Amino acid sequence: MSDISTTIQVGLSACLAGQEVRYNGGHSQSKLCLHTLAQYFEFKTFCPEVAAGFGTPRPTMRLTGDPANPRLQFSDDSQQDLTQQLNQGFSDKLAQFKDFDGYILMKNSPSCGLERIKIYQANGYPHKQRGQGLFTAALIKRYPLLPVEEEGRLHDPHLKENFILRVYAHHYFKQEVLSAPDHHALIQFHSRYKYILMAHNQELYRELGRILSNAQESEINALSQQYLKLFMQALSKPASHKNHSNTLLHILGYLKKTVPSEARQNIAEVIHKYRQNQLPLSTPITLLKHYIEQYGTDYIKSQRYFEPYPEALCLANHL
Ligand code: SF4
Repeated sequence: MSDISTTIQVGLSACLAGQEVRYNGGHSQSKLCLHTLAQYFEFKTFCPEVAAGFGTPRPTMRLTGDPANPRLQFSDDSQQDLTQQLNQGFSDKLAQFKDFDGYILMKNSPSCGLERIKIYQANGYPHKQRGQGLFTAALIKRYPLLPVEEEGRLHDPHLKENFILRVYAHHYFKQEVLSAPDHHALIQFHSRYKYILMAHNQELYRELGRILSNAQESEINALSQQYLKLFMQALSKPASHKNHSNTLLHILGYLKKTVPSEARQNIAEVIHKYRQNQLPLSTPITLLKHYIEQYGTDYIKSQRYFEPYPEALCLANHL
């Protein structure tokens, strides 16, 4: 139901790609990234610490000082502030990431970690408050709408599905709206994502609808950016079983006039079993898709809900 013709570029911490750039001269190769996701994404690797000239191997580093403005230091040398050196290593590089649709980062790194990074006090103990790696903080500041995730968290099927959904959504938005912004393209995009939005965040789905109801009066570039901000926010958390079930029942309503009530009853039972966690999401979706391909209107057939990313990733089998 969907077609994606251009490459999806995704940033990747270089050590996850198997490059021997870690402080100890080793790597943290990710099978998930290299064996599975590399079939769909063009990974662009980067190691901010090597780019900053720290060399490999190198002494371990950590964040220190004020959690609101942490500094980078060698773990065994509290005198030398390495923050500026790290910043200089990545500051020019950030501009080259403008075409990315996502970024996968190594956990627990004072440079690349996404969350829960320890920040040490002068007494050698960490603050209760944790932080973000300095490179990651700068990446997110520059590209606040870019889907970003730690590799470790991608082993959770719900977080993995949500990240990949967002990467594709970000890519489709650039391709279908930002490449040649016009009001019609934006409304079409919203229309195709209707059920994905409903399943993720009904409040923001309604808010996006309100923004678009006055679309013609707004300048298209500003409107597109306003839309994208709320849209990515709406997709930022995995959809619950309850919301998916309600969305599936809503879609089932489209088959009321064309599919016999006994078949619809069977589909409703499958949806109920999914809601009770007895079946994966892929089962009701496959069933509904089967009927929609035969009896659905063009509108319902065009819904990205049925294929927000390539089916071969089998993500809905684990939800
Ligand atoms: S976590 Fe980041 S800084 Fe550390 S080795 Fe990997 S890419 Fe380099």
